[in-house]
Amino acid sequence: MCELAIIEDGAVLIAGEKIAAVGTTDEIAKHELAKKADEIDCSGKVVLPGFVDSHTHPVFTAPRLIDFEKRIAGASYEEIAAAGGGIRASLRGVRESSKETLVAHVLRALDEMAAQGTTTVEAKSGYGLSFAAEIKSLEAIREASSQWPGTVVATLLAAHVFPPEYRENHDEYVRLICDEMIPAVSKRKLAEFVDVFCERGAFNMQRSERILRAAVDHRLGVRAHVCQLTLTNLAPLIGLHPASLDHMDVVTDDDISALAKVDTVATLLPAANYFLGLRSFPPARKLIDSGVAVALATDYNPGTAPTPSMPFVLSAACTHMKMSPAEAITAATYNGACALHLQSHKGSLEPGKDADIAIFDAKDYRELAYWFGVSRCCETVLRGIRRSA
Ligand SMILES: [Zn+2]
Repeated sequence: MCELAIIEDGAVLIAGEKIAAVGTTDEIAKHELAKKADEIDCSGKVVLPGFVDSHTHPVFTAPRLIDFEKRIAGASYEEIAAAGGGIRASLRGVRESSKETLVAHVLRALDEMAAQGTTTVEAKSGYGLSFAAEIKSLEAIREASSQWPGTVVATLLAAHVFPPEYRENHDEYVRLICDEMIPAVSKRKLAEFVDVFCERGAFNMQRSERILRAAVDHRLGVRAHVCQLTLTNLAPLIGLHPASLDHMDVVTDDDISALAKVDTVATLLPAANYFLGLRSFPPARKLIDSGVAVALATDYNPGTAPTPSMPFVLSAACTHMKMSPAEAITAATYNGACALHLQSHKGSLEPGKDADIAIFDAKDYRELAYWFGVSRCCETVLRGIRRSA
């Protein structure tokens, strides 16, 4: 993760949506295709593969300001919910909104992400929590992605929390997810992954396993929110070959050893720790030093991480998790691509890969994790299409 393979005075040659060649400016200038190419002058700048934000929840309609203010004042989760905040506020917004309204919200988020250097986004449903509202959420992601030049990977997160109408009958909601939502999503190809919030107060391990097995049976990839609040034995999940296990704030040594032996990525989300005002952060050093592939993502969502900024996540990862700037960049690009099974065409600047590039007004890559509260991204290229930030 420390080896960024930096090319000084480098150049990238793009043909259509793909990278045709990478090398020094002198080498690229001699390339046949370079003669009639348009040039983006990146002198004195840092050029990176676009960030892969491999964990976001963009389908919501309003910020959760009650939660924000109440939490600052010291209210508990239950008190926030009683005051009309919490996940149920997002649920109402998604259920009552038209698909077009949701599309507009998702597109705005995608544009804000691109302005900060992100070119690939994993986008979850999970604030509808009914058959109709989860399908509507995934359709909104699909529609927004068709209007955005970058790449969006959709994930069904119907197993986020139990919706109010199933408060007394959790098994029936699990059945709805397994027997109705997952088959419909698979048949219509509305998502590539199924995710589950495996946590105290959400889905226990037995139910999480059942949902992810249903996903595997329907040829969907699997990923999970785990170990954010509760130490959980991950063996049952690791056996399902998840692309990624996300949060991982509290994880056992045995599970770290098991993860080091498999392809599953540990996706760390320090913006959530920051926003919740937590003192502890995911154990990135221990995971990396044990040989686990670590990715970084924003966790963009209205309750615990309202930020589209991967550069902010780099800052938090370096400052609070003691990742080096090089490790943070690898985690936010190539390892993020691995967490979405996209590493064959995303996450690095190599011939044949998608032309997903972020250009930063910085002389040294370490500045990307150094400055915070400001975006140094001046332009992104998303599958060959230029966007100024
Ligand atoms: Zn999340």
